[in-house]
Amino acid sequence: MESPDSVRVAVNIRPLISAELLHGCTDCITVLPGEPQVQIESHAFTYDYVYGGAGSPSFAIYDDCVAPLIDALFHGYNATVLAYGQTGSGKTYTMGTNYTGEGSNGGIIPKVMDSIFRRVETMKHSTEFLMRVSFIEIFKEEVFDLLDSHQASLSKVEGASLPKPTGPGRPPIQIREAGNGGITLSGVTEAEVRTKEEMASNLARGSLSRATGSTNMNSQSSRSHAIFTISMEQKKIASCLSGVNDDTADDILCAKLHLVDLAGSERAKRTGANGMRFKEGLLALGNVISALGDEKKRKEGGHVPYRDSKLTRLLQDSLGGNSKTVMIACVSPADTNAEETLNTLKYANRAR
Ligand code: ADP
Ligand code: MG
Repeated sequence: MESPDSVRVAVNIRPLISAELLHGCTDCITVLPGEPQVQIESHAFTYDYVYGGAGSPSFAIYDDCVAPLIDALFHGYNATVLAYGQTGSGKTYTMGTNYTGEGSNGGIIPKVMDSIFRRVETMKHSTEFLMRVSFIEIFKEEVFDLLDSHQASLSKVEGASLPKPTGPGRPPIQIREAGNGGITLSGVTEAEVRTKEEMASNLARGSLSRATGSTNMNSQSSRSHAIFTISMEQKKIASCLSGVNDDTADDILCAKLHLVDLAGSERAKRTGANGMRFKEGLLALGNVISALGDEKKRKEGGHVPYRDSKLTRLLQDSLGGNSKTVMIACVSPADTNAEETLNTLKYANRAR
């Protein structure tokens, strides 16, 4: 029997960083060489992949976990990469969300862009592509457009009352579900991109607006989910369709890839005490992914609680079903972070 592998879970252990070394932190995580197993204190967990420490080198994450999703995207399937973990665990580093142009650190998103455009190049004699990107942030259950400079700056104004998520005269960004189950965001900037450079400049612009908007407010940025979405439409070029009937000639293959740098997981627990904050996404996401992994439940058409948060509603058509999902749980190996690391490992274990 084929096991449902629509959700794969990887753990990425970053090295001790200089601040931790300065404070005399020691490494509290053990990886069994050759096994995707992590031990911390008296606990042991097994995942699909483990990187860092004595596990596989981190650069293998792209080939193992992300390349299959790019394949799926070109075949018309939606896909999602999620980076989970406490603030400082390496989510942004791993995803490459903080892309500023040249000299990127080899994070996932720059590699995704490379790979997509290399493939488009080899197909362009037979296929027309229309590609768009959007870059949004979900903060306190509101959606902010990082590609709309006016709105992004408004979103970070400090004050007791939360500023409106949209500029004057703009309709609020809304999550819509189409009859076929497809999810769209109305009112969000969808930038058409024709080259890798255009895509990269949108990523950089959004990253910058996230970073500058949150000056002196790192706590806010660590509490928001950042989602960079690449949507792709493909249409066969008519002259390349000899022998194929007219129906397929008009077919447009659509799919999207969400690259998600999640909010710091340390909040999931603390804010859990506060009923409303419970909805800020991470707990809902954990419930959705665990329901998807529960084969028995899936076969019985069991309830998957997508509607419990903006994050899970937005990702609804790209988690489960035919879509492919990878969760990368990022952890610090420092003994001082052991408690949060254990929480992350448990969360990721439940997702599997
Ligand atoms: P997060 O987004 O989870 O808050 P960051 O990605 O900002 O965490 O990483 C925290 C710090 O750790 C940064 O200084 C980053 O450069 C460093 N770091 C993260 N992952 C790695 C890694 N794999 N190798 C080296 N340094 C890393
Ligand atoms: Mg970050």
